[in-house]
Amino acid sequence: MMPIIDLHQHAPTPDGLDARVQACRDAGIVTAVILGQPESRVPGDNALTLAAARAYPTLFRAWYGVDMDADGPDAITRARDVGFTGVKCIGPKRAYNDPGYFPLYERAADLQLPVLFHLGIVANTPGYQDCDSNLMRAIHLDHLARCLPELTLIGAHFGNPWPEEAAMACRWNPNLYFDLSGSLLKYRRPAFLGELLWWKADGPYAAPDRSDAWAKIVFGSDVASPAIADVVNDYAIVMDTLKLDDGLCCRIWHDTAARIVGPPA
Ligand SMILES: [Zn+2]
Repeated sequence: MMPIIDLHQHAPTPDGLDARVQACRDAGIVTAVILGQPESRVPGDNALTLAAARAYPTLFRAWYGVDMDADGPDAITRARDVGFTGVKCIGPKRAYNDPGYFPLYERAADLQLPVLFHLGIVANTPGYQDCDSNLMRAIHLDHLARCLPELTLIGAHFGNPWPEEAAMACRWNPNLYFDLSGSLLKYRRPAFLGELLWWKADGPYAAPDRSDAWAKIVFGSDVASPAIADVVNDYAIVMDTLKLDDGLCCRIWHDTAARIVGPPA
């Protein structure tokens, strides 16, 4: 089985950690990024996220759930200092590309921490009932990616329900990647994704970095432990149906994400 890097997990409860480790092993996941949520959200779980990464340092990486409207850039430095190796953004009060957030992004870039952004619709659950999904659109990442070429950005859920924005932003920005987690793979056919991710390394209309569209897509599960294998299967169906070559499949499962996550803290 091809080794998989999962760029989008959330912390299980402490008594579910062993089951998560087993689910990763069963699915062929060799590295998983656990995305923390700030304490202002319910449930805040940055501490749980870091504890998981400390318990299984070769399997898990902890990314810091920044409180975008309360934390300053120094919070990101402190997070790095205690062992977080990336940043997660969700639920801003202003659009992601609001100038007020740039100091956070610039600090992440300075520290070479990649930033994963929740994009699009967010579950209407306790802790997220104030969220305005329109402030988390993929097109905002297009602006950020071109203003901040040193920053590595990952957009979650392919911008669902605005995947067209995600695709075009992906094409023009070498530092912008996307995962396909969430409901998109449940209600969109592989052909739909093939139409959006259409450009080839050798053109015509090649991306500026001459990358194939699918070389910018990473694996993300974003589900509870028992459902992880099902998301792996959904990705495999897309790759099989679109007849992506082995080189591209390796990049989606592993190689592109390996460059983003880097070595353990
Ligand atoms: Zn998520």
